[in-house]
Amino acid sequence: MIVASRSQKRVDQVASLVYRPRLEMKKVLLIGAGGVGGVVAHKCAQHPEAFGEIALASRTVAKCDQIAASVRRRTGREIATHQVDADDVAQTVGLLRRFGPDLLVNVALPYQDLALMDACLEAGVNYLDTANYEPPEVAKFEYKWQWAYHQRFEQAGLCALLGSGFDPGVTNVFTAYAAKHHLDELRELDIVDVNGGDHGQSFATNFNPEINIREVTAPCRHWENGAFIETPSLSEQRSFSCPEGVGTFSIYRMYHEEMESLTRHFPTLRRAQFWMSFSPNYLRHLEVLQNVGLTSIEPVDYHGTAIIPLQFLKAMLPDPGSLGKGTTGRTCIGCIVRGLQNGKQKTVYLYNICDHAKCFEEVGSQAVSYTTGVPAMIGARLLLEGSWKRPGVWNMEQFDPDPFMDLLNTCGLPWSIVESDPLA
Ligand code: NDP
Repeated sequence: MIVASRSQKRVDQVASLVYRPRLEMKKVLLIGAGGVGGVVAHKCAQHPEAFGEIALASRTVAKCDQIAASVRRRTGREIATHQVDADDVAQTVGLLRRFGPDLLVNVALPYQDLALMDACLEAGVNYLDTANYEPPEVAKFEYKWQWAYHQRFEQAGLCALLGSGFDPGVTNVFTAYAAKHHLDELRELDIVDVNGGDHGQSFATNFNPEINIREVTAPCRHWENGAFIETPSLSEQRSFSCPEGVGTFSIYRMYHEEMESLTRHFPTLRRAQFWMSFSPNYLRHLEVLQNVGLTSIEPVDYHGTAIIPLQFLKAMLPDPGSLGKGTTGRTCIGCIVRGLQNGKQKTVYLYNICDHAKCFEEVGSQAVSYTTGVPAMIGARLLLEGSWKRPGVWNMEQFDPDPFMDLLNTCGLPWSIVESDPLA
């Protein structure tokens, strides 16, 4: 049974009671000119009422220039471009002082999170990212390193918003929305990320190959009765039928960072699991690459030069930013939230469906970059407008979900909610 959707007034009214934009022109600096950076630049440019001035900086300035040219062609807006090594705090501080933004949006890699947070503290600039910090030499991501910055951001009167992509990001907001409007107590959460698209390549990843393969090959962890339980990577599999004819896919349980913050902020959760779809073709290639050692992050000696096999593999694989053209099909990402309302058991499923070809037509990117870049723009907008701004370091579910849900509907990622359990 459908309880609400973007076309139904009740939900939109709930959200619009809260969402009161303060339209001031602000300056934003985007760092990272990959697949996601391209989408954030286009989406910010589409909203001049919120983003008065936009600059884009990255390691390779030619990629920034390419994105700026596309933004100019599609929206008529100018974006300044800069070269920066985001691992070098002093370089970023220099750029922040010259440009003077209100917010730095980090869509480089998770390795840069801490250096960019340090730079923001030094230059007095607010911070937002889409993925939590991961040390380059260990394939392990955890919020503890970034949560440790809370007091410093609080004392500086600055706001850091963590994980404003889709998952993490929208999945945190979906969960908070279910808790606010549909359930008195959350008991179980299943996040399901399906990419039903076809990019026509033998093997490619939809976002940065190094980060993607580190994430997929890591041991799985899921939350069960107050603790994370570790199981071998991709060892648990289910079949999942997406709504609206997207199709039926094999989904595999894996660890994903939003479970760490969601189980902390919704402590009544007894179980939390994350599932992602993989095609047999993707898994076959991944198995061979793993077996021959090409997914390893341990340095190997190659003719006297130490190389990291996974970084070499990344150099051989298609750039995710180039996959937009020709990618067909749709993504379907959502949260199944089970719990109690008025003492009775209830389940809601909140999801978004996004079409690869339509994203390419709008901003020149496939849907995985699009579904990450749009929430980054929305988080940036709410932070700049003040409705999602508090000194300290925050996860998405710690703010009121309503204005974010409202903007998803109007900025390209409309959502639906049904009272049913697609994993039952
Ligand atoms: P890409 O690899 O396509 O882009 C990363 C960009 O960052 C590149 O332009 C790269 O520069 C730049 N970069 C890397 N290191 C540095 C550095 N030291 N200094 C300056 N720039 C640097 O990745 P994606 O666009 O696919 O992903 C971007 C981020 O989004 C990642 O953190 C990823 O984990 C996250 N993500 C989050 C999702 C979510 O739903 N929350 C989903 C998908 C991705 P160069 O071009 O020179 O290599």
